[in-house]
Amino acid sequence: MPVRIVFRCEFCDARPDADTQLSLEHQLKAELFGEYLDAPPSNWLTWTGRGLFGPARYACAEHRGDLTAYLRTHYSSVGPHPWKKGPYLRHPPPRSRPDSSLTRAVTPRSGKSC
Ligand SMILES: [Zn+2]
Repeated sequence: MPVRIVFRCEFCDARPDADTQLSLEHQLKAELFGEYLDAPPSNWLTWTGRGLFGPARYACAEHRGDLTAYLRTHYSSVGPHPWKKGPYLRHPPPRSRPDSSLTRAVTPRSGKSC
């Protein structure tokens, strides 16, 4: 049974639409430390965190500024990473499609009826 990862905005508990969900799942493969990533198409913002920068955090388009403010308040003594200004890395890049391996994992088998 495929595992469904649940992403929520840190500030309003919103959940991403299906395409943004795929972007966020794809970002989990990126081994980045203290980076902001844009998550298309709904303009979510990911903080990759790790180590002293804490856990990964997510914000919907409406709360991107709240996430950067929170990180700058709580992690600015760790390093300059929270102070990075946009535009941020867009991951996955605009022209690429999310990794199909995740999509395949949730696609039901076809062509055989019970
Ligand atoms: Zn939000």
